[in-house]
Amino acid sequence: MTDPRHILVSGGAGYIGSHMVLALLEAGERPVVVDDLSTGLRSAVPPQVPLIEGSSGDAALIGGLIDRYKVEAIIHFAASIVVPDSVAHPLAYYANNTVNARAMIAAAVEHGVPHFVFSSTAAVYGEPREVPVDEAQPTAPINPYGRSKLMVEWMLEDTAKAHPISYAALRYFNVAGADPHGRAGQSSRDATHLIKTAVQAALGKRSGIDVFGTDYPTKDGSCIRDYVHVSDLVQAHLDALRYLRGGAPSLICNIGYQAGFSVLEVIDTVKRVSGVDFEVRLRQRRAGDPACLVAANARAITRLGWTPRHNDLDSIVRDALNWERQLAASSD
Ligand code: UDP
Repeated sequence: MTDPRHILVSGGAGYIGSHMVLALLEAGERPVVVDDLSTGLRSAVPPQVPLIEGSSGDAALIGGLIDRYKVEAIIHFAASIVVPDSVAHPLAYYANNTVNARAMIAAAVEHGVPHFVFSSTAAVYGEPREVPVDEAQPTAPINPYGRSKLMVEWMLEDTAKAHPISYAALRYFNVAGADPHGRAGQSSRDATHLIKTAVQAALGKRSGIDVFGTDYPTKDGSCIRDYVHVSDLVQAHLDALRYLRGGAPSLICNIGYQAGFSVLEVIDTVKRVSGVDFEVRLRQRRAGDPACLVAANARAITRLGWTPRHNDLDSIVRDALNWERQLAASSD
């Protein structure tokens, strides 16, 4: 009997990747995870899922896994994701996000993997000319993070023209929240993203929260983002897999709700949903932040058949809070 075909999930022990693995199992797929465990956790991967500790930039390792598990699609999450970090350490971002992705794509081509799903980002747009921003608008990233991801989109575009591989590059807006059933969440101790840090402040794990910039040209002066629930985000990857397997052409696609919230609105929501008031410190702008990023999402809905189910900031915050409470209880 030949081994069944698998889906290779790089970064499957991380925040989004661990939700992806659960969604794949629920959909009857067979995931196999490669993760260097630099930020991911072994415990985030269910025991029945093979977890190989290693780098997505290790072409020999990835090639071996593709052959061994008869990999039919790669979902490539492994990456560095903090915008201000990318400003301070650009070469580390180009190495981890761009160079390692090149190795993954090369292994996919060399070993005959037909489909590739890539975690791209709204940061490829930079400061969009129009909001909501659709996929036809020009890419002009304003930070190394966005550039490190845009180069991968270009590699995929060129590679899919030259080789028999199709891809979906999903441009994530701001991913947040946690599995509504409490099985997974954002576990990094040093997380910097807004909803995570705000719920930590609500639970007393931080002294309060800094608002980075109150002089942006927005309704209240703080930055506006489109926050997408991690469960809806991973569903878009299942939709993309189905789409590519059906023989449809490669696709670049925004994943967001077409709804913008300011930093101050998010903080108010966390205070209201948690019932806790915490200190809010108004600070200078942070390096690399665009003022406003909101997705136009018609393409995801019409081409991928994506149906958002958790598009409500209160639910995102509630699920993030529940996960943070679980983390707090388990570290007691
Ligand atoms: N932000 C903030 N305080 C924080 C974390 C984030 O004011 O403790 C702001 C940040 O400057 C940006 C927005 O929240 O305007 C979203 O930032 P985040 O790091 O969550 O995601 P990004 O959009 O950078 O990927």
